[in-house]
Amino acid sequence: MHLDQWKTAGEQLLRHWNRSGLGFIPASNAQDVAAAKDWLELQEAQFFTSTEPSAAPSEATAGLQERTENSYLASSSQSTQASAMGGLSLDRMEPTAVSAVASNGPAAGSDPVASRGPSSGTELPVLGVFQPWGAALDLPSRTVQLAQLDQQVKACRKCEEIACRRQRTVFGAGPSNARIVMFGEAPEAEEDRKGESFIGPAGELLDKILIASGLKREEVYILNALKCRPPNSRTPMEAEIENCRPFFESQLEIIQPDYIVCWGSIAARAVLKSTESIGRLRGRFHAYQGAKVLVTYPPSYLLRNVDAKRLTWEDMKMLMRELGIPVTKKPGTK
Ligand code: SF4
Repeated sequence: MHLDQWKTAGEQLLRHWNRSGLGFIPASNAQDVAAAKDWLELQEAQFFTSTEPSAAPSEATAGLQERTENSYLASSSQSTQASAMGGLSLDRMEPTAVSAVASNGPAAGSDPVASRGPSSGTELPVLGVFQPWGAALDLPSRTVQLAQLDQQVKACRKCEEIACRRQRTVFGAGPSNARIVMFGEAPEAEEDRKGESFIGPAGELLDKILIASGLKREEVYILNALKCRPPNSRTPMEAEIENCRPFFESQLEIIQPDYIVCWGSIAARAVLKSTESIGRLRGRFHAYQGAKVLVTYPPSYLLRNVDAKRLTWEDMKMLMRELGIPVTKKPGTK
């Protein structure tokens, strides 16, 4: 078969895979991005638009994928605070930039929502107050402290129902000085078996999203709100997230990322203490300490709901612009 015919056949196969919602990064090629450049460029251009949705998922539709709404965070004072964030340095945040952001917050006594609400008239929440991280640890100290925290997690049995069923704890992994943290919900079955975050089909899709966004898994720190798998991967309970809060908050404090991407509503609740749906939280940056927080649909959902890929791609483009990564391809074009 002529080379062009092979390429055409390959492109058709990729489109088919994309339409099916399945990820496609050949294991060997994933190890060698340069060698797979042609394939990945094709993938980047087509992945998020393999099925062009006629419209964004409605709140009702989006709500179907989100976990049962809990009320445990409703009383959080943080969810009532807001900060208008923008104009940050693309490099690791400098104190001057931090001050500028902090000064952009709503004036004391003003309505924080009204003061930064979109012009459409729909009040979409911007959550959290930007507060610079504390003094940063040097790299060796971060590594040591994360390792100590991991040992505490391994010994933790605060959630009895979970602890007696888990196979392994899943602490998280990545550079201890990562600028970007990928924040998930809880381990699934395969992660529970292997003790690693975001593996299996959802993990492969995350890898693909990262590559399409000009990022690599090795560059980001990946962690979950819960360090243990709930039985049958059920929705994490309020008490379980609060039990695990000291662990993931300590992780974030040690790493001190500039950006946190929350994959799913449970992750968003853990970080932002908000009961808002993803549909109302996505599309703009929120704040957690000194990090800008982006909320989007989790890979496990995107595998089942191809139409939402476009929305996640829009969210990732926001992150890319912040990071100074050029968004060179128009989705849907080669
Ligand atoms: S989920 Fe977190 S708090 Fe609960 S047992 Fe596991 S490590 Fe401990």
